Amino acid sequence: MKDSIAVSRITEIAPELCALSQDLWDHPEIAFSEYYASQRLKDYLAQNGFSITTPVPELPTAFVATWGSGSPRIGLLAEYDALPGFSQKTQTTEDPVSPGAAGHACGHNLMGAAHAGAAVAVKQEMEDRNLPGTVIYYGCPAEEVLTGKVFMARAGVFDGLDCALNFHPNVVNGIDLKRCAGINNVKFKFHGTVSHAAARPFDGRSASDAAELMNVGANYLREHIPEGVRLHYVTTSGGRAPNIVANFAETWYHIRARDREPVEDVYKRLIDVAKGAALMTGTRVEVDLQGGCYPTLQNKVLAETVREAMESIGAPTYTEEEKAYAAALNASCPQSPRRAYKVDPSIAIFEGIKGPFNEGGFAYNASDIGDVSHLLPTVMFGTVCSNFLSDLHSWQFAACTGHSIGQKGMLFAAKVLAAAAVKLMTDPQRRQAALEEWKETMDGTQYLCPIPPEVMPPVVKPPV
Ligand SMILES: [Zn+2]
Repeated sequence: MKDSIAVSRITEIAPELCALSQDLWDHPEIAFSEYYASQRLKDYLAQNGFSITTPVPELPTAFVATWGSGSPRIGLLAEYDALPGFSQKTQTTEDPVSPGAAGHACGHNLMGAAHAGAAVAVKQEMEDRNLPGTVIYYGCPAEEVLTGKVFMARAGVFDGLDCALNFHPNVVNGIDLKRCAGINNVKFKFHGTVSHAAARPFDGRSASDAAELMNVGANYLREHIPEGVRLHYVTTSGGRAPNIVANFAETWYHIRARDREPVEDVYKRLIDVAKGAALMTGTRVEVDLQGGCYPTLQNKVLAETVREAMESIGAPTYTEEEKAYAAALNASCPQSPRRAYKVDPSIAIFEGIKGPFNEGGFAYNASDIGDVSHLLPTVMFGTVCSNFLSDLHSWQFAACTGHSIGQKGMLFAAKVLAAAAVKLMTDPQRRQAALEEWKETMDGTQYLCPIPPEVMPPVVKPPV
């Protein structure tokens, strides 16, 4: 794997991949507005001979780039959205490039570039060795709101794919086998009747009261929901002023659990709580489902393929300057080290390879990779893209994803993706084993898209 055509190709195109990830870092765009990033990636892949389609009309920043034909079909799942408010310079103190602007605090700029590099490298090896099959780059927007891939799944874009590979920036090199939660993301919008709150309160029907009562009801509901379901909310609109009876209020909920069923069950009961609050207050409630996704299923056959690629290629090493930068960032990180990683927490930056770890683990964070993993064998792995103590969604992580540390992680990931994809392309027994494991895990259950057909993505219009 180490000296394969695909891996060597990544070394050749490393400067353009670094420029690509840096360009995305310089142009951060939040979910549903990734026009710059998707166009830049489409152009890069088109220049490298890929056919581009935008197969989900309601989601213009999603795209598919394809090269080759027929079976096997190996998918690379890329993301490129940024996070609001995380603009950050590549320095060791908190300071935005542009105050209030978005930033790549989850490193999706590195994902966009790494998967593109891998796609180009796999194509090179397929051409040189005359290998049959198709390599497909999936440009998946809006991961930070957990719905891009769900809308894509609903449109059937992953149909016919044999295996899917996904790299996500992390603080260790390895494949975390833990399961991530399924989620529903829903806004309850209450509509009341406006009136003067002091002069004519009897004419008013308060949407703000409805939102408050809904939250009270939800907190009573907590006692009677299955263990392990998490319910959290924020009131995003509660009225304009005390002397105006609020004719509009909104409260926004997430429901998370290990499986889809309890999410669906608590979601239905929460709607009843909202209806009760509306009935009590003489208001009307509108249920605005923003999206939802499945828990993640990590395929162990694919994880083993990724481990082999990682070990063959070898983890990046760092200069003294990079280690000092990582140590300075560690000193600014308030969070405790992740025990699940079983790594000495005093290191500045992780330099080894963990392989698959944390089997049987569970975390309440979610990813829309979950939906893809319920459609076909899928694996998600991480490479070191920051200092050891940074958390995803922190200014420290945003600093690293625009730094040489992030780029080293991106290039390592591109090589691992390319090597693993070629291995899967050329090893039908391994694909079969991955499929059999997936079937066993699914145990005859069917994927039912958690977003109903009438719900459209809240796409932001392109800039003019
Ligand atoms: Zn992310």
